Amino acid sequence: MGAARVTLDAEHVIVGAGCAGLSLAVRLAMRTPRERGRVLVIDPREELGGDRTWCMFRGAPHPFERAITHRWDRWRVIAGGRVIERSVPGRPYEHVDSTRFFEEAIARVETSEGVRLERGVRADAIVDEGAQVRIETGGGTLRARIAWDARGGGPDERPREDDVRWIQHFVGWVVRTERAIFEPGIATLMDFSVSQSRGPHFVYVLPYAANEALVEDTYFGDVPLAVAEYERGIREWLDAHHAGGVEIVRRERGQIPMSTAQITPRRDPRIVPIGLRAGSAKPSSGYAFAFIQRHVEALAARVDRGETVPPEVAVRSPITTFYDRVFLAYLRRHPTSAPEVFGSLFARTSPERLVRFLSEEGGVGDHLAVMNAVPRLAVMAEIARSRGLWMGR
Ligand SMILES: Cc1cc2nc3c(=O)[nH]c(=O)nc-3n(C[C@H](O)[C@H](O)[C@H](O)COP(=O)(O)OP(=O)(O)OC[C@H]3O[C@@H](n4cnc5c(N)ncnc54)[C@H](O)[C@@H]3O)c2cc1C
Repeated sequence: MGAARVTLDAEHVIVGAGCAGLSLAVRLAMRTPRERGRVLVIDPREELGGDRTWCMFRGAPHPFERAITHRWDRWRVIAGGRVIERSVPGRPYEHVDSTRFFEEAIARVETSEGVRLERGVRADAIVDEGAQVRIETGGGTLRARIAWDARGGGPDERPREDDVRWIQHFVGWVVRTERAIFEPGIATLMDFSVSQSRGPHFVYVLPYAANEALVEDTYFGDVPLAVAEYERGIREWLDAHHAGGVEIVRRERGQIPMSTAQITPRRDPRIVPIGLRAGSAKPSSGYAFAFIQRHVEALAARVDRGETVPPEVAVRSPITTFYDRVFLAYLRRHPTSAPEVFGSLFARTSPERLVRFLSEEGGVGDHLAVMNAVPRLAVMAEIARSRGLWMGR
């Protein structure tokens, strides 16, 4: 006797309508809108809107080009009294406005035959039942062939003693200042002229106009601080730059995983993590947007090819993971060296190589050049010490 046939609510349920969930939904909508209701996206939020800024160096085109609102052809790092300015023709630093991203993504989803978005729906449990997935929500049970877990946060990990499990934690203000203190043509990726007493700490500045910018007080470390601590950092930086009166236009706050721990292999073939859940944040930098786009593009292509259960698709290669590990392990061991290490990285590495490294497009030559920023003996020592990180996994 055959098993009873169960009616599916959708072929694919995407759990979470954030950056990764909507990026995948848009791609599925663009590719094969074969049947109405083929893809269902759920999210507990009623209002899906922008509360953050996504920046990265120009890379492969993505479906959200119209959400790019600013480009900086030059960028700088300020470290150890040095101001290092760089640019790479054709690779500006780009800013995706998350409000526009959501408008664009939701418009595409809502005009698509195949994709449906339901707000105010939280997944309480996602269970792989073998032939299908069951998703428990406050409003009832959903069944699908595949569940894409895009709930954000971080991946399930198998940490070892010598893994670094930091977070990049920050608060940012978009400010309008009385005095014109910003240079609109140049983004400040890291200004280390702030106290390093709590570990790597810098200010990130994205100028939108001579008197308007996002100013972010950022740390790498184990635990976040009280909001007032970052806000004091932003105020002190603005005062040091003689901003005069300050109007706060918008605030953002974030914690992005910077972890060298191995991600637990997928246990449930029909539950596929994407976004931060899949480990998309680059351990040494916290950048995730571009890696999310690359990962969901690869997965959507597999779905398009008719693969019924998408295979494990790695977010990053073992070699980039390895260099990120060495880099982060060194920083953890020498936390006050961050200004020197990043200063040396930006001063000594060709900007083309560095952009490729940060965008995870580089080859061995790029990785070795980046490692030159860390004293060679220390790298060798770190590699030896870190062998538990890359052997016997
Ligand atoms: C303030 C901030 C600034 C950042 N800036 C950059 C940057 O400049 N460059 C960069 O590359 N990266 C940046 N990042 C990192 C990264 O790109 C973002 O965090 C990105 O939003 C991660 O995408 P995601 O889809 O994994 O998670 P999210 O975008 O957080 O989406 C998760 C979604 O899941 C939903 N959800 C949660 N629980 C459930 C549930 N039980 N059921 C259903 N849905 C659920 C949430 O409501 C949310 O909509 C930033 C992060 C933050 C927080």
